[in-house]
Amino acid sequence: MSLTIYNTLTRRKEAFTPLDPTNVRLYVCGPTVYDYAHIGNARPVIVFDVLFRLLRHVYGPDHVTYVRNITDVDDKINARAAKDYPDLPLNEAIRKVTEKTEAQFKSDMHALGALDPTVEPRATEHIGEMRAMIDRLIAKGSAYVAEGHVLFSVSSMPDYGKLSGRSVDEMMAGARVEVAPFKKDPMDFVLWKPSKPGEPSWPSPGGIESPGRPGWHIECSAMSEAHLGEVFDIHGGGIDLVFPHHENEIAQSCCAHGTDKMAQVWMHNGFLQVEGEKMSKSLGNFVTVHELLTGWHGYAWPGEALRFNMIRTHYRQPLDWTLVSLDEAHKTLWDWYGDVESHEPAHETPAAVVDALSDDLNTPKVIAELHKLHSAKRFAELRAALGFLGFSGKRINIERKSLGGGKAAESADVDGLIAARLEARKAKDFAEADRIRDELQAKGIVLKDAKNPETGELETTWEVAR
Ligand SMILES: [Zn+2]
Repeated sequence: MSLTIYNTLTRRKEAFTPLDPTNVRLYVCGPTVYDYAHIGNARPVIVFDVLFRLLRHVYGPDHVTYVRNITDVDDKINARAAKDYPDLPLNEAIRKVTEKTEAQFKSDMHALGALDPTVEPRATEHIGEMRAMIDRLIAKGSAYVAEGHVLFSVSSMPDYGKLSGRSVDEMMAGARVEVAPFKKDPMDFVLWKPSKPGEPSWPSPGGIESPGRPGWHIECSAMSEAHLGEVFDIHGGGIDLVFPHHENEIAQSCCAHGTDKMAQVWMHNGFLQVEGEKMSKSLGNFVTVHELLTGWHGYAWPGEALRFNMIRTHYRQPLDWTLVSLDEAHKTLWDWYGDVESHEPAHETPAAVVDALSDDLNTPKVIAELHKLHSAKRFAELRAALGFLGFSGKRINIERKSLGGGKAAESADVDGLIAARLEARKAKDFAEADRIRDELQAKGIVLKDAKNPETGELETTWEVAR
């Protein structure tokens, strides 16, 4: 079987051949942890989770490494920390904001049926590698020190603009290029910058005496190298990251390593808008995953319905997230699940489903295949395909009576709380774990903890108290 993927770099669909089939390597830009993930943030998580599952299916679950970073050093985080915890020292406030947001992100993404990536590196754990990469770029003449900053010299990268397919003039016109008197060229971008007193800071590269912190772009170049090597298979992210973020990642990595590419394939998911408009807080159509799971338009939506609604549109197409489409997605799932009697986990995935996914993740075609299986009453295969796409094989969240709230809403809520409790336990925050258990108990939900005999992982199931 052959897998084809659309490569943003070449602007065509290509047959995918991994550099090493025993270790297929995928990097996706992850969240900056300062606020709840909005539904637009969930799109790449779901799209690349489908890809991760497909790669595991094709190459074997132990032969795929998926890295998704966590950006925990950023101006937005500093601002949020100062606003939310004005009485705490900034670094302590930042730790509270990033830990809380990261746990919330994980719990939301679990509710959407996304597997954890193989590695989720935090930027602050890789500052040493960033510094080393910056020093290498300076030594090679691709970066220079100016007024406590280190800047990347765009003129040192002949291919700059290849990914976005734009000339330097177009890029300057289209992007908000920060003009600073110390830049040799307005397109040059920041690799390292000074920290203000009280802000997070680390010893600087380039012989700069005062401490500072990394720019955003260098984080991904350093973390992908640390976990996947100098050149890897697939780099993914939202289409809004093509320029400048991914263009800059390529420039940094290629110049530091002397390679002609950073990743073989670049994959980008399309934009997401809500009810026909670009999502924005001022328009009032800004919607978080947490809200959708706990209450949006009067309903709490099961994570599976959110996931299903997301993959009904091909990942490269723009997606309009609407109440009508979400309701439709929920009804279809309800219909399918209503006919699947056994809740046993399934084994064989239908070939037609794998074929459709292998054609540049053609999820609309997968759904057409599922409709065919449903109308032919081939429920065993339907169930297998549902499991393959990441829908729960263990517990069915969508029940007939639940359309528009009720039981499904309750179920999504309970799952979210259980995930949060497991996170709290992992972080040894037993007070929080107990608080969540008590909160559920008050709702008549009884939790049972047990070790999975295969994985050794702690798993929690629940039932309604009688
Ligand atoms: Zn990135």
